[in-house]
Amino acid sequence: MEKKELNIELSGCGVFCDNEKCTWESPLVDRKQYIDWVNKPCPLCGENILTEQDYQQSKQMEVIIDFLNTLTPEEFTAIGGGESIESLQNNPVFANTKGLDTLKMEGNAVVTIEVHNGVKITEIKNVED
Ligand SMILES: [Zn+2]
Repeated sequence: MEKKELNIELSGCGVFCDNEKCTWESPLVDRKQYIDWVNKPCPLCGENILTEQDYQQSKQMEVIIDFLNTLTPEEFTAIGGGESIESLQNNPVFANTKGLDTLKMEGNAVVTIEVHNGVKITEIKNVED
């Protein structure tokens, strides 16, 4: 089977207290269960675990990844501003993403997102099937 296009899979889960001085986390919570954590207080410090805004952003991220997966490599490059990876790095969502510079624009890739004081893409990497 020919496989030229980049197929991105979303990874990453867990909820973390947004209070930087607090260490509470529940790393195994699945993204599908995030709705249960919206506006819930941290068991340790009482800080909001997941704001409505962070939750909506994490849902948006799923929509974006789904959308990226419908693109041909040419369209993907065009969205990045025409210069592919380097221009992606100028996008705030990808600002601190590990692995972006070594990403191949074909095959399968896994994107790890983190919902902690906002939504970030922490890592993107190609994977073998
Ligand atoms: Zn806390």
